[in-house]
Amino acid sequence: MNQWFYKTDKTFLARLPHDGDLLLSIKDVFKENAVQMGFFVAIGAVKTAHVAFYDQGAKTYTDLIIDEPAEILSCTGNVSWVDGDISIHAHITLGLKDGTAKGGHLLEGTVIFASELFGIALDGQRLERRFDDVTGLKLWSS
Ligand code: ZN
Repeated sequence: MNQWFYKTDKTFLARLPHDGDLLLSIKDVFKENAVQMGFFVAIGAVKTAHVAFYDQGAKTYTDLIIDEPAEILSCTGNVSWVDGDISIHAHITLGLKDGTAKGGHLLEGTVIFASELFGIALDGQRLERRFDDVTGLKLWSS
């Protein structure tokens, strides 16, 4: 098992912009505060969502558009590095009008109705994602 240890003395709250892109807005908050590593949770609501499911056999993502208003029951993720820039890896669970839930790996194209972010800034080494042959994913690698 690979493990990395960090310290933190900085946490923050942010209100994300109406009509903003959820993934890009989360990234903006971390970039504006020069946070290079971190963890976050967000709740709120979206107008429409774009998520993906990773097919472990085919090693490809299947996109899913959820084109209706939904509650962000949970959105959680982390901040690390890919190709010289911070990278947001987030998953989201959305509650629909009928009480069912859908979700997946969060992609650009998810439009915020309202959202509140709680972020944790981590101090320590920059953790890079690199392509992993076994999974076909970009995973943490030191
Ligand atoms: Zn993912």
